[in-house]
Amino acid sequence: MKLHTLALTLALAATVRAENLKTVDDFKAAADKANAVLTIPDWEQTPEAVDATVKNAIATANKALDQIGSQDLSKVTFKSTVLALDDLNWQAGLAASRTVVIKESSTNEKMRAAAENAVKEFQDWAVGIDYREDVYKALKAFADTKPKLTGEDKKLFDETMRDYRRAGLALAPDKRKEVEDLRKQLAKIGTDFDTNIVNAKVPVVFTKAELDGVPDSFFAAPGVKTGDDSYTVLPNVTWQFIAVEENAKSEATRKKLYVIHDSLAKDTNRAVLNQMIELRNKIALRLGYKSWDDFQTEIKMAKTGAGAKKYINDLVSGIQPKFAAEVAEMQKMKAADTKDPNAKIEVWDWRYYGNQLVKQKYSVDKEALRDFFPFQKVLEGMFNIYQSIFGLKFEKIAAPYKWIDDLQLYMVTDAASGEPLGMFYLDMFPREGKFNHFAEFGIISGKQLPDGKYQRPVAALLCNFPPPSADKPSLMTHSDVETLFHEFGHCLHEITTRAKYGRFAGTHVPGDFVEAPSQMLQNWVWDKKVLDTFAADYRDPSKKIPTEIIQKMNDAKLATAGVFYRRQFGFASLDLAMHDAHPEGAKWDCVDISNPVLEKVFLPIDPGTTMVTYFGHMNGYDAGYYGYAWADAIAADMATVFEKAPGGYQDKQAGMKLRNEIYAQGDGREVNVSIEKFLGRKQSVEPFLKKIGVKGGDEKKKAPSGPSKEGQ
Ligand SMILES: [Zn+2]
Repeated sequence: MKLHTLALTLALAATVRAENLKTVDDFKAAADKANAVLTIPDWEQTPEAVDATVKNAIATANKALDQIGSQDLSKVTFKSTVLALDDLNWQAGLAASRTVVIKESSTNEKMRAAAENAVKEFQDWAVGIDYREDVYKALKAFADTKPKLTGEDKKLFDETMRDYRRAGLALAPDKRKEVEDLRKQLAKIGTDFDTNIVNAKVPVVFTKAELDGVPDSFFAAPGVKTGDDSYTVLPNVTWQFIAVEENAKSEATRKKLYVIHDSLAKDTNRAVLNQMIELRNKIALRLGYKSWDDFQTEIKMAKTGAGAKKYINDLVSGIQPKFAAEVAEMQKMKAADTKDPNAKIEVWDWRYYGNQLVKQKYSVDKEALRDFFPFQKVLEGMFNIYQSIFGLKFEKIAAPYKWIDDLQLYMVTDAASGEPLGMFYLDMFPREGKFNHFAEFGIISGKQLPDGKYQRPVAALLCNFPPPSADKPSLMTHSDVETLFHEFGHCLHEITTRAKYGRFAGTHVPGDFVEAPSQMLQNWVWDKKVLDTFAADYRDPSKKIPTEIIQKMNDAKLATAGVFYRRQFGFASLDLAMHDAHPEGAKWDCVDISNPVLEKVFLPIDPGTTMVTYFGHMNGYDAGYYGYAWADAIAADMATVFEKAPGGYQDKQAGMKLRNEIYAQGDGREVNVSIEKFLGRKQSVEPFLKKIGVKGGDEKKKAPSGPSKEGQ
């Protein structure tokens, strides 16, 4: 990413004016009153300090583990076992989280390298904790006392014991050893799978005529023109693949590139993925599960593979009318194009006709929209909305240590009581060596400390919004604005927590839920009322975004939502099908399972393709891909609370409900319970279907499957 260094410096000079900022000490009295502890992270500033931090943190944690492991087994208590483990994990997590942020944000290469090492050291150490036999014995001795626990304590106890069971500690030593070996093999070939994907490169050469329709900017990109009339397209480079699939008028071109793309790593990864599935299946069976998807979903909202499947199947059939209508519209376009009334929409057509459809019907000049989104105004606008609906106050305070000049630190307090709730850092613009996406990082997680006081959290947003230029402020795209609303939502989830234990605080919620509240907040930036509170032409703030543009943007988003989601559901379904129960030793081929599912749920494919061999999510999101669609559906369901409220997306009561029932709870109680308390009813997929344009969704009310009924 290129930086306009000079412009950036100038812009900084403007913001770093003399400010009379409060310090964290100014909030101490209020914190004491609320029995809360505020801590500014003590940032390491040399590679040696990073190194020392990891070593000290691990040594301290090991000492605490030794203490748990060496106690008198006849005197074990909740405090000396389960709680002691949460304490030491939380403590080690402080150092680890700081190290992660240093790795992603330091301006010093040596610091980043030291932090990267430290993160690895932490990870290796953390894997070993589960296998401390002495610690497990102490925990087991406590479990054997059949403790009568309730609420968050019981949940902490249950889930701690569940971790050990899932790691194989509850098995006989020889069985446990086998599981450990299987896991090691799985980790090793998982790396092979990833490597094969990275190495899968099949350059495809086209003539200019074959690429007719593809924009000029594509041909001008470095490396594309490789001869007089030859243009080399790399199907493994996502933007190149999409540029051709979305724009090439020739079906033969689109098909050729698609078939090659969906056959990448065919010769290498088909066998590797089969082996991975086999190993996962074995591990699941050894640990007493019916299947790998049961194992993976146990710790999620879905709870079982069947729960996840039922949910996705409901969505697949629910979306059918919208999907069919979109495919029919694309079919009409293709029939007109090809003069063949029977032309079919194949898997290599949807990007092209989807793009044509949006261009013809709902074209919006995305670049021109930037004028309405100057960074500072957007940030202030978002702050105003979130402060108002969540009953919070954000105040910029002095940061004792800054890794960059324009780093900002804010204190969050409860607007009604003045109780300090936590702090967040903002590091918003790109630079060399910095993390290159947009994300929220927890730095200090909330937790009730041994003395009964509550440690308030600290978080950071690391983003890469367009830097200001010499003659213009930072102007964001609409998608940037959406990202900001999303990521800042994670920040609030982190900071407003009231969960007692580190394990459950803030965003430490099941993986298929963590994105839902933030995905819900993305709705805000598609709403005229919300946008009008801050989006205005930076040259003439009296100019708002015209209503018809916002309408068009919404229409464009909906235009191909059916196809988009059916593809997502296709991936979710084939992932679950591959990780379904199957007898050990049975022939079980990833492509033979996944291709028919993809074709059934999505569109006709070429039988020679092997989409899953190049599907990187199969190492990491295995039996978990469904989580994306799942979270979208829950987000839409949750958004109805605002949509039905008098104030809409700016409704304060709905906002406080979100803060109290979702954010504050963390994972301290079952998220299924939290969601239903927030909704005031059972969960439903109907709002999601309605949102993406399924008409008449009301006539057959679908009972939600996985999330609600399998809460326990
Ligand atoms: Zn997110």
